[in-house]
Amino acid sequence: MSAPLVDTHAHLDDPAFDADRAEVLARAKAAGVRAIVNVGYNPERIRTTLALTEAEPIVYAAVGLHPTEAERLSPDVLAAIREAARHPKVVAIGEIGLDYHHQTASREAQVRAFRAQLDLARELGLPVIIHNRDAHDDVYALLREADAGAIGGVMHAFSGSEAHVEAAVALGFYLSLGGPVTFKNARALQALVPRIPLDRLVIETDAPYLAPHPYRGRRNESAHVRLVAEAVARLAGRSVEEIAHLSTDNAKRLFRLPSPDAPPDHGMG
Ligand SMILES: [Zn+2]
Repeated sequence: MSAPLVDTHAHLDDPAFDADRAEVLARAKAAGVRAIVNVGYNPERIRTTLALTEAEPIVYAAVGLHPTEAERLSPDVLAAIREAARHPKVVAIGEIGLDYHHQTASREAQVRAFRAQLDLARELGLPVIIHNRDAHDDVYALLREADAGAIGGVMHAFSGSEAHVEAAVALGFYLSLGGPVTFKNARALQALVPRIPLDRLVIETDAPYLAPHPYRGRRNESAHVRLVAEAVARLAGRSVEEIAHLSTDNAKRLFRLPSPDAPPDHGMG
């Protein structure tokens, strides 16, 4: 089965892949992955992410400052993100948002960085990739305050309740599912899958993190996005082919990725 897939969130520039990055990318392509959005979440990782996009046609980039590093926000860092976002393979600002689980940055600093980068995304006309960990109320309140529906974006590694599905959809956002939807103890998340409109669903790995069952706890990689598609298909009562095609179409619309008939060096062939 080789229906096309898009991994909408990965960190393949991570040192965890230094020994075998070429093999990881080859396995992704063999599994049908046509595009990967690699997320550069601080100034150093933005550099390694852009270098990867230049070496690998199927890799695109998101650039931003992760909420756990929000204390690093400065005019210089914001200027570096703005400059990086001019790169032709940058398709989003992210990952940005709020993380109340890892307490490495104050809530005030996180809110400041989130607002500043929502403004930047609006200025640049790029969608946002939202990181939300234990911060549902504040994330949705800030998105509404920023009129984020006009910016567009995706809830990365979606978690929450049916009300949060509705809140994201009301904003016109996409919802991205990854490894956790395959976990045996993820019944609440699995029960929400049929509630996600099929034109709002995208899939991801978050590699090297969040490996799906049966690889849970091990290094994740983009080829495993197929396991996410299979789990979503079962839960949504659709075929894997259907989920692959529609999630790929959604990802292309969300990130304005080139269509399959674009020149081969743009990767979506
Ligand atoms: Zn991530």
